[in-house]
Amino acid sequence: MKVDLHTHSVFSDGTLTPTDLVQLAAAAGVELLALTDHDTIDGLPEAQTAARSCGIGLLPGVEISANWGQHGIHILGYGFECASPALVSFLGQQRLRREIRAERIGERLARCGIDGALVGATQLAGGRVPGRAHFARYLVQQERVPDFARAFKRYLAKGRRGYVAAEWPQLPEVVAAIHQAGGLASLAHPHHYKLSKALLRHLLLQFKSAQGDGVEIVTAGDDEGRIEWLAELAVEHGL
Ligand code: MN
Repeated sequence: MKVDLHTHSVFSDGTLTPTDLVQLAAAAGVELLALTDHDTIDGLPEAQTAARSCGIGLLPGVEISANWGQHGIHILGYGFECASPALVSFLGQQRLRREIRAERIGERLARCGIDGALVGATQLAGGRVPGRAHFARYLVQQERVPDFARAFKRYLAKGRRGYVAAEWPQLPEVVAAIHQAGGLASLAHPHHYKLSKALLRHLLLQFKSAQGDGVEIVTAGDDEGRIEWLAELAVEHGL
């Protein structure tokens, strides 16, 4: 069975509408798809409708930003009750945090002589709250940087002039919010956090102690060695 349990649409930093995304996945032979937009489930109704007409399964999903100590991490939620008041209110808080961060990124870029970044990034986000990817696209559009990767390298990555450390809820709080809505929590792309192997082990251990359910083993760009190492660690921790 072909599955894809980690995708984004224009409701966060993806480039396709949920309908186009579902159709593309169906055409690629995906039988079970999860739409996991950043901190929002607003794209799910549209995805659900498209999945029904394409005849593929759609698992409700979301990718929630969290902190583990000072490290920023992402936690995927699956199969939750979309109307859960606890989840809806939790995601409302996340949206507020995103709005505050977007404003501060705009202010920081203005101090670098780049005006109109918040407005431009918001436009690129289709009027929704822009994330760093939208600011990166704006910087490329304004020819401040030659490409997306360099927008991060020069301005938006940790420690650069346009970087704003986001204050996300801590890992256990995020796992609890997903569980409260009846969902399962999975640690997203552990290799993206630039942690040492020892710290990664520690993260998985703490994720498990916080009642986390799973870990994402295969991510685009990972090599086989990393995938195997992570798979063994997941088994070891019962994830
Ligand atoms: Mn992610």
